[in-house]
Amino acid sequence: MINFNELKHLLKSPKRIVITAHSNPDGDAIGSSLALFHYLQKSDHSITMIMPTEIPKSLNWMKNFDKILVFENTKTFSRKIIKEAEMIFSLDYNALSRVEGISSLIKKSNAYKVMIDHHIGPEDFCDAVLSDTSASSTCQLIYEFIEMMGDADSLDKDILNPMYVGILTDTGGFRYATSSKLFRIVANILEKGIDNNMICDLVFNSYTINSFNLLAHCISKRIEIMEDCNTGFIALSQSDHRKFNIKRGDLEGVVNFILKIKKMRCAALITERRDIVKISMRSKGDFSVQEVCGKYFNGGGHKNASGGALKKPYKEVIKLFKDIISNEYKEALTKENTDAL
Ligand code: 5GP
Ligand code: MN
Repeated sequence: MINFNELKHLLKSPKRIVITAHSNPDGDAIGSSLALFHYLQKSDHSITMIMPTEIPKSLNWMKNFDKILVFENTKTFSRKIIKEAEMIFSLDYNALSRVEGISSLIKKSNAYKVMIDHHIGPEDFCDAVLSDTSASSTCQLIYEFIEMMGDADSLDKDILNPMYVGILTDTGGFRYATSSKLFRIVANILEKGIDNNMICDLVFNSYTINSFNLLAHCISKRIEIMEDCNTGFIALSQSDHRKFNIKRGDLEGVVNFILKIKKMRCAALITERRDIVKISMRSKGDFSVQEVCGKYFNGGGHKNASGGALKKPYKEVIKLFKDIISNEYKEALTKENTDAL
């Protein structure tokens, strides 16, 4: 819970504030960080945004994107900033394992810590927590947070543009994790003059020729459909990574293409990284990939969108995934769809 009186009192005088979000940050992690940055910037604070790992270049059109520090590349400086912080915001993550290199710094810090997040099962490492798994995105919660701070009047384009990006990306363009509450918030955002068409274009039509060729490669050469389990997956080895010079963000959204096939209820993207194999899962309806990722891949997230990673050989992870799906989840994945209209 957040004690808003305590927080308002703290923010009355200038503070050294650090905003962090999860590693491999997505539109919601970056959008919520920039939205909060612009909100806090209205008062006389000294604010630094620090992400554990590289940020996707496709979002570099966002205002003050270039102010975001990547911990991996700025270790000495970022370490000093985190150590000196009086307040730390944890956005779009609820477990310290999600911030890799900066987790121990956050754990040790005596700063006042605030979590704003929408993932299942928050860990207890913050002084104030705004956690709501029914929220579409952390960006939606930043909107609610600013309202609860009594500052709805301060919502301007600098705050709302990045907020809208996170809402769009985490809902896949309003296709999932939506609610009437979200649409009311979106109506308010649009009334402030936010340009939906322009932001959708910047967010969704952002393939480079290389990442488009990579998508074609995934769909034509690296996909395997387990038709009897209504499941499909795409697996990419280190040699695929080299061939397409895959960078963070290049694979964003690829896994969703599998769910475009009729009847598919579960999809995965398995990628061989240098020392781990990463899995990114999506599902439709009642099937919980959060359970699968939590139980077998040291991960988690949301019911219909989760991820995880294993320190095991790539081929072994692919076999494990196929075995789990066909042995443990086939029945759940093929049962009569009760979610139909
Ligand atoms: P993505 O598949 O797009 O990387 O992530 C989907 C969702 O799962 C996001 O909400 C993300 O925060 C969460 N997620 C991704 N990877 C991991 C992981 O390794 N551990 C946990 N706990 N959550 C993850
Ligand atoms: Mn999110």
